[in-house]
Formats: sequence, C-alpha cells, structure tokens
Amino acid sequence: MRVQERHRIDFAFREKLNAVADGFRHDYCYQCGACVADCPTSNYSERFNPRLILLKAILGFEDELVRPDSEIWDCTNCYTCSERCPQDVRPVDVIIALKNLCVQEDKAPPLVRKISDSVLVSGITTKVTTLAERRRQELGLPPIASYPVDELKKIIEGS
Ligand code: SF4
Ligand code: SF4
Repeated sequence: MRVQERHRIDFAFREKLNAVADGFRHDYCYQCGACVADCPTSNYSERFNPRLILLKAILGFEDELVRPDSEIWDCTNCYTCSERCPQDVRPVDVIIALKNLCVQEDKAPPLVRKISDSVLVSGITTKVTTLAERRRQELGLPPIASYPVDELKKIIEGS
C-alpha cells in the first residue's frame, strides 16, 4: 500500500462490497494480523498480505483491489486465514467477494474468465486434448467422464 500518499476513505465502496455475498465481513476486521502468519501465499509473495487487503477494503481502495492485476488473484483459497482469524472475518470469503466484484465489473484476469466459461460449457476447467486421451489409454486409465453440465448450470443460475 502506498502509505505516503493521501487517500480519502471511500465509504461508497464499502457499501458496494457489502452488497456482494460475504463482502460485509470486512467490517469485522480489527487488523490484528493473525491471518498473515500462516498464509502460504504471504510466505512466498512480498506483495500479498490478507491483513492489508482487508485494510484496503475498509478504507475503500477500490482502484487497487478491483482490477485484473490485483493481489487478490494470488490467493489460493486454502482457508487457513479463516481458521486463524479471531473475529470470524473469514478473510478468504472477503477476497472471494472482491473477486466476484471484479467479475461483475468485467475486471477479472482474462484467464479466469476463460476457465469459468470452460466450466459452464463442459463442466471442467481445461479442455481434454486427444493427446491426453491417448496417453490415458496407454496408461490403462478410463476415459474422462462427461459431466452433467445442465445440472451445473442450474446450480450456478440458482446461486
Ligand atoms: S485475522 Fe481477522 S481480524 Fe485479524 S487482521 Fe486478519 S482478517 Fe483482520
Ligand atoms: S485463503 Fe488466501 S489469504 Fe487465506 S491463508 Fe490461504 S492464501 Fe492466504
């Protein structure tokens, strides 16, 4: 975070985040930092820090969080932070809410859009190539099952 710069707290962004499922949880954060200690991404990335993401959400730094190259996309969804947080913020759920906001506003990384489109069409994230099918056959593995895409669509549309 560019702490030297002046920022105006953007309460409008907080309201916007509150309207997304689980986004309201950022309100509970008291910045203790317990979520950072065991976060695997924080251990390997200098730019990733769930406490700072929560602080940016609280202060309304929409421009830094809601964008395709935001640090939120580095989160692995491992849920360790949720187990550590004494305030039941469930930081990962706030990060997911931020990701959903990015998708709503067409600010998700193109690869994420590609993967989610693939799930909608085929039920899987990556197209199975003929080479992969042949290799499976050689290894004596069964063909990859097709997925009930219609049922998946119903679940997604109903959520
Ligand atoms: S552990 Fe919870 S309360 Fe503490 S900084 Fe992280 S999100 Fe905020
Ligand atoms: S869910 Fe994300 S923020 Fe939480 S511990 Fe895992 S990588 Fe870190």
